[in-house]
Amino acid sequence: MLNDNLPADAQILPFYLANGSDKTALIRGRIASIGRPVSAILERHAYPEVVATLQAEALALAACLSSTLKFDGVFTLQAKGDGLVRTLLADINEKGNLRGYVALEDNPKALQAVAFAHDPKGPVKLGQLMGKGYIAFTVDEGSKNGRYQGIVELDDRHISDAAMRWYENSEQLDTEVVCAAAKGADGWQAVALMLQRIAAEGGKGNGLMKTDFAARMSSDEAWHTAKTLMGSITRAELLDPALLPQDIVFRLFNSMAPHIAPTRPVIDKCRCNVEKIELMLRELSPNEVGDLADENGNLTITCEFCKNSRVYNKDLVPLY
Ligand SMILES: [Zn+2]
Repeated sequence: MLNDNLPADAQILPFYLANGSDKTALIRGRIASIGRPVSAILERHAYPEVVATLQAEALALAACLSSTLKFDGVFTLQAKGDGLVRTLLADINEKGNLRGYVALEDNPKALQAVAFAHDPKGPVKLGQLMGKGYIAFTVDEGSKNGRYQGIVELDDRHISDAAMRWYENSEQLDTEVVCAAAKGADGWQAVALMLQRIAAEGGKGNGLMKTDFAARMSSDEAWHTAKTLMGSITRAELLDPALLPQDIVFRLFNSMAPHIAPTRPVIDKCRCNVEKIELMLRELSPNEVGDLADENGNLTITCEFCKNSRVYNKDLVPLY
């Protein structure tokens, strides 16, 4: 059953593909279409457009990759570089609460030069903005399944290439990812599409017996076809607000018996925690509190993600 109440631009749509006549799902796919929460998030930050586009792409990618989270899970994409963008962060939990922020060097001239060099019809190249560094993908499923992290080096390609390298290194599952973001007349569009080959029974890799040769052929053929079909979608189509996520699935993969699963919501919601911040403040010495205080002796704590502020006096009593 579809969850039809979710807006088309604030959801993750899971789907499955088969090899024509045989209905066994061989490929799992996801589309995250999250223009609405991305617009709300970016409105609170005055990033230059090329930086905002990178943040929007990272948010769409994080939403798409997070869709396997189960209980109390958080998926985090964090990139650190030595360029103009020092930190790029996007995270989302299993409820679809999404947030993100960018830490920028204060260098308007250099940013202008990057904005000038960027082709707005294409994706943002990581190297231009971030220089050298790494991207960490972290899946934290708390007490249930623990936490694991994969790290790939930054290069000059697109952020979706980094995600594919992560999958290659960690799960060794064939994965294709594409994401795109752009600001339109009605706010941001941010979409990520992912295909992943379903591992054969018995685990990862090529653990199939000879008798499964036909199954292997079928899986290879399906994967090749799905990849080719995915490659045919243009950036303009991905970002077309008139094309709903399910339209994209049925239009692209019509020949592969697409099966759509219930959508998951994605919402603009920060997880900043006042109690945690206060506990941290109480660990500071009076001198440290003094260093952080303004001329009136008050401390302002602002969440980097949602920009909510809280002001405390020197005795750490919240004022407003
Ligand atoms: Zn916050």
